[in-house]
Amino acid sequence: MQKATPKATSSLGTIVCSMIGHNYKETNRINNVISEYRCNCCGHEVTENAQGSLEVLTPKMKDINACLSSFIQKKMRRASYSQVS
Ligand SMILES: [Zn+2]
Repeated sequence: MQKATPKATSSLGTIVCSMIGHNYKETNRINNVISEYRCNCCGHEVTENAQGSLEVLTPKMKDINACLSSFIQKKMRRASYSQVS
């Protein structure tokens, strides 16, 4: 029985992506400007930075985006409470 490992698929995807480029799909929208993207082919993850260009989604950038997302959600909740009362 042969099992397909994600790593084997990823390395094949890496070869394909190096030839034709990544096929990014949005995975997490932080706000109107910043989103996280993952390549459907190789699983490479990137995010938009403050300048609007794409950079590799490192664990540090993931933490920053999660913190920013949490802050925005809290701010939106407060805004909706103030509108009700
Ligand atoms: Zn790719």
